[in-house]
Amino acid sequence: MRILVQKFGGTSVSSQEARERVIQHIKRERENGYAIVVVVSAMGRKGDPYATDTLLGLVRAGGDYLPARERDMLLGCGEIISAAVLCGMLIASGIPSVALTGGSAGILTDEGFGAARIKRVQPEQLLRHLESGSVAVVAGFQGISSQGDLTTLGRGGSDTTATALGAALRAEMVDIYTDVNGILTADPRFVSEAKPLPVVSYAEICNMARQGAKVIHPRAVEIAMQAKVPLRVRSTFSEETGTLVTDDLSAANAHYVRDRHVTGIAHVSGITQISVKAIEGRNDMQLQVFQTMARHHISVDFINVTPSGALYTVYDHDAEIAEMLLKEAGFSPQLKHGCAKISVIGGGMNGQPGVMARIVEALTEQGISIMQSADSNTTIWVLVRDFDMAVALRALHAKFDLHL
Ligand code: ADP
Ligand code: MG
Repeated sequence: MRILVQKFGGTSVSSQEARERVIQHIKRERENGYAIVVVVSAMGRKGDPYATDTLLGLVRAGGDYLPARERDMLLGCGEIISAAVLCGMLIASGIPSVALTGGSAGILTDEGFGAARIKRVQPEQLLRHLESGSVAVVAGFQGISSQGDLTTLGRGGSDTTATALGAALRAEMVDIYTDVNGILTADPRFVSEAKPLPVVSYAEICNMARQGAKVIHPRAVEIAMQAKVPLRVRSTFSEETGTLVTDDLSAANAHYVRDRHVTGIAHVSGITQISVKAIEGRNDMQLQVFQTMARHHISVDFINVTPSGALYTVYDHDAEIAEMLLKEAGFSPQLKHGCAKISVIGGGMNGQPGVMARIVEALTEQGISIMQSADSNTTIWVLVRDFDMAVALRALHAKFDLHL
């Protein structure tokens, strides 16, 4: 049995018209001879009746006393509705189909409500449905705990459902259908010239996803990478095949990857830069700062420690508490809110001189000041102010000829 997993995101199932497109993609691949597992997200985005954020809004209005377990029950409904509706449409168009919750598809998780980890996938029931010729439509973003409770997998959870099922079923391919034509060289909401990448390696896309490219969740890529299941990211609203994610750089794929230094640009906004100056006679200052952050589970990034002090970033939503803690510890931190981290990413920049120079050049030409920078062998990060971010993204995109 050749198995294909097709995951459809929120906008892909948000309207009747979009769902008709979804049916076409399922039909076509069935005719190509695949046994098909469909994974669906909740319908639409914030404001749509059954979108995840809308469901959350139902309890927020009442002050939100809902415990994590019951919150997961509420959130899980969005995907269950999608799965049942799509299953009905498939049957109506003559395609035998069954709808499954995450639990009935065999996704077993820990008890970490809100961000549960998949412990095991037991695909036997799913396989029986496939063997009987049915399309299995699985509610994404959810699993079941050993106690039998519904759990949700956290942000990007439906991507994770898709690759976890792909790995467990040894699928030939996992297709991630979304509202853009693949993984682009930058977020098209900020860079209209951004172009789809025909082929990327798992490491590159994992890196882009971790640095903020929200088109696919990094955990989903990691699972696919471990199981060596190829991924394709493509649009529900076109017939183009989008981006292939694979480490198989043989023949046809090789030339795409080898010749570029920079693959893409990602960004994260809503960041605060914190600067703490060293205090005479307090040699343990750096240690104290970072121990304090760790004790309060504040995630830190962009860390720069020198004899004269420490410079680092936190998310804006952690900034207030971080400032308070530092003051309590006797420091006088300086905070700059509203910053954005831009990542210039490429497996091919390793050992290439001049990449940083071109980044500085691109930003200087636009009069944008770089507040901090760091680099690894595959990524260069720069911190800029939020209000400079869009211009910076476009300038960098142009400087590295990513539109070509
Ligand atoms: P879905 O609901 O299908 O999971 P998402 O909203 O999670 O869709 O992801 C798709 C969105 O990701 C796109 O609409 C796009 O704005 C955004 N995005 C950010 N960076 C990139 C990138 N490098 N390539 C493609 N899309 C990106
Ligand atoms: Mg998504």
